Amino acid sequence: MINKDRLLNKFISYVKIDTQSDPTSDSTPSTEKQWDLANKLVEELKEIGMQEVSIDENAYVMATLPANVAQKVPVIGFVSHFDTTPDFTGTNVNPQIIHDYDGKDIVLNQEKDIVLSPDYFEDLEQYKGQTIVTTDGTTLLGADDKAGITEIMTAMEYLIDNPEIRHGKIRVCFTPDEEIGRGAHKFDVDKFGAEWAYTMDGSQIGELEYENFNAAGAVVRIEGKSVHPGYAKDKMVNSMYIAQDFINSLPRLETPEHTEGIQGFFHLSSIKGDVEETVLEYIIRDHDKKHFEARKQMMRDLVSEICSQYERDCVKIEIKDQYYNMKEKIEPVMHIVDLAQNAMEEVGVKPILKPIRGGTDGAQLSFKGLPCPNIFAGGHNFHGKYEYVPVESMLKATEVIVKLAELTAKKYE
Ligand SMILES: [Zn+2]
Repeated sequence: MINKDRLLNKFISYVKIDTQSDPTSDSTPSTEKQWDLANKLVEELKEIGMQEVSIDENAYVMATLPANVAQKVPVIGFVSHFDTTPDFTGTNVNPQIIHDYDGKDIVLNQEKDIVLSPDYFEDLEQYKGQTIVTTDGTTLLGADDKAGITEIMTAMEYLIDNPEIRHGKIRVCFTPDEEIGRGAHKFDVDKFGAEWAYTMDGSQIGELEYENFNAAGAVVRIEGKSVHPGYAKDKMVNSMYIAQDFINSLPRLETPEHTEGIQGFFHLSSIKGDVEETVLEYIIRDHDKKHFEARKQMMRDLVSEICSQYERDCVKIEIKDQYYNMKEKIEPVMHIVDLAQNAMEEVGVKPILKPIRGGTDGAQLSFKGLPCPNIFAGGHNFHGKYEYVPVESMLKATEVIVKLAELTAKKYE
């Protein structure tokens, strides 16, 4: 049995360390404080008896659990990130532990009247009777992704303490700066040396993900001509009206608020403008590669159309791809998803397979040659004060890791 109190204490000790990342910084890690937890993790990995424990100049922590079987088994890895989002403060996290949750409102902060209620967050209902860790209403919790780190650490310790469980070589990696989209950037895939890996960074119990968006960002720059309004006839060109045409020419229903599942969208995230110049910022998202390319082309065509209409080069567009759907890298090795699914079923967790409407570090890693589906870490309501995690979900995620190690070795007997 995995020790529940030990796991909980470990988790609490991690969330109390502030590791917020910062998108405006160019360094890796983006904030100095991320070293605090990174260094602690190095010490702990050594303490529990992991081998080849290393930390590089960018704070990527890696370690090995050597195989305890004679046969050749592919090296598998587990990955999670220790930074927390810049969107909400992670300073002085003061977790509250609710034992035997009664299914009712949880008062996070009496003074500020902040309540975590199943009326609004229906997911809470499925955790009646469980132990829930919440915030005190003033910070995020950091279960994203310190739950993942806790689970990997606990699973490795469990495998070391229970050598009768047979497994191949396992690699683990804890990364900085995932929340600012840079967790995979300086990940040394060759050094990691795993054939495939799993990020423990999903949300509710059962989640298993291997599809995500293809993503691009577009900046549309519209040039006008500012002239004194009193003498502007046939001279002024108001860039804001051209911007309006541009915006209205894109399909209005293909936006985040009108789409779900595997439907893609254009998202206008910012408008800044005056008569002389208007700048539109978009993000483009689509699970399907062909549709994704078509969306980008649609925007470029629209630019040409407007330019020819105004008989000048008044609109310019710059489109940058951000990340791609990992599905095309995972499908050729679907057995790694099957294994995760089997591992969940064997420990009594019902797998929930669904496409991510976002990206993961695993997607970037998959394109760097390390196929990397995403498994639940157990938390809910990430990136804000209503974040919580049931300890039972963390225990199950830990069991899934242990089972995955076992099943992978069995498969190659
Ligand atoms: Zn995360």
